[in-house]
Amino acid sequence: MTSQTTVKTLLILGASGDLTGRLLLPGLARLVATGGAPGLKLVGAGSDPWTPEEWRDRVRSAFADAGTSGTAGAEALAAVEKDTVYHQLDVTADGPLAALLAELEGPVAVYFALPPHVSQKACEVLHPGQVPDGTRLVMEKPFGSGEESARELNRTLLTLVPEDHIHRVDHFLGKATVLNILGLRFANNFLEPVWNREHVARVEIIFDEDLALEGRARYYDGAGALRDMIQSHLLQIMALMAIEPPATIGERDLRDAIAAVLRASSIKAPYETSTRRARYTAGNIKGRQVPDYVNEEGVDSGRNTETLAEVRVDIDNWRWKGVPFILRSGKALGDQRKVAVVTFRPVPHLPKGFTGVDIPNQLRIGFGPDTLELDVDVNGPGDIFSLDRTTLNAQLNASDLLPYGEVLEGVLTGDPLLSVRGDTAEDCWRIVEPVLKAWSRDAVPLEEYDAGSSGPDRWSESSAE
Ligand code: NDP
Repeated sequence: MTSQTTVKTLLILGASGDLTGRLLLPGLARLVATGGAPGLKLVGAGSDPWTPEEWRDRVRSAFADAGTSGTAGAEALAAVEKDTVYHQLDVTADGPLAALLAELEGPVAVYFALPPHVSQKACEVLHPGQVPDGTRLVMEKPFGSGEESARELNRTLLTLVPEDHIHRVDHFLGKATVLNILGLRFANNFLEPVWNREHVARVEIIFDEDLALEGRARYYDGAGALRDMIQSHLLQIMALMAIEPPATIGERDLRDAIAAVLRASSIKAPYETSTRRARYTAGNIKGRQVPDYVNEEGVDSGRNTETLAEVRVDIDNWRWKGVPFILRSGKALGDQRKVAVVTFRPVPHLPKGFTGVDIPNQLRIGFGPDTLELDVDVNGPGDIFSLDRTTLNAQLNASDLLPYGEVLEGVLTGDPLLSVRGDTAEDCWRIVEPVLKAWSRDAVPLEEYDAGSSGPDRWSESSAE
């Protein structure tokens, strides 16, 4: 679904930042090495007074970290390194960014790899008419800090470029993963008749990390698990699991279908029953000793930031009314789990005479690596009246690109598949904002769990098991 590369220049604002060094440049290296982005000119910008050679060194070392090997693409990589330039500028000042845009070869993709409030300010100081035609603006998460600020940011951006030139990045789902979910759901006739409230008991979308804070207090302590993961990434996966069959997987049909699901979604009060939150205490994760979250460097214990969040989302439409969608994400857990689990209702009547398993069927879609598992009950070996549980499994298609290589490929080719539409970005905040407010009033207790465990003991009977 991609068109030819049109972007000639990639301008990264925030050239010295963590995202640029750890994710964007390695993603770009892998993309270029696999033949993507031919002839692309890379321009870095930031507040540091770097010499051209210092910037080139940074690009070179990030490209080396990308693990590209062999001769393929080596020349293209060398050309990007050789031709890249750096500009020192304050993006929040009125004038310098507009002047730089006027001088670069277009079309330009401007990547705002900046702290969110700096990105917002950088957009506000650009005036309509100062952004050349064809420019693409690439916005990182979080997109705004709430529904109103997301709407305000959307208003600002739309004075500069049209909606289809705004990329709101959600790097969590790779292109292959999105297409795997869509392929599974809409290319198999046997699934569609049971993909609804009549046959599905619940859907869980779980992203549990065994990593703790890893020095990211500056960002994470002000965000927490609900804002960091559920507000953006997990709601997007939920929408893909729940959408109506689109006529095409083109930009308009797919994003209309996603928007329709999210518009019908909410987390219902009372939030003591529809949500829960917890924070890790000291513990051991696979041999690594982790301190209490509140003793991690840079954490403000007064903030009550949750490191594990779980919410029940209701999708009030014909297909899903009454089916709980449980979204859960946390840090410092014993096991890494990235999975969507669909639990089907039990059979209405198990013929008398059968014994053995009595567990409903489950379909599990694993993310990174992408896998598919279906639990079914069969007449296994031995007693033919005794049913056994077996799991059918498959490895799904994966991409050669790093997640940010896929994001950049989408930006450079104008493919919005991995980009969030403006109304959807606002709706994701609308869904979680009442919960954030309730949590900030302490209406829901902040529980604790040992780092390396599976969460608070009380949650062990959780539907998210
Ligand atoms: P950092 O704080 O590491 O980097 C921010 C960059 O912005 C620095 O290069 C900084 O330069 C530059 N900057 C700040 N103010 C100005 C200014 N006025 N003019 C020019 N440059 C400026 O942030 P991250 O890289 O971690 O994050 C960037 C964005 O990406 C955020 O929106 C974040 O939420 C998002 N993100 C980050 C991820 C990550 O893993 N890091 C993952 C997913 C999203 P200097 O230091 O010289 O001021």
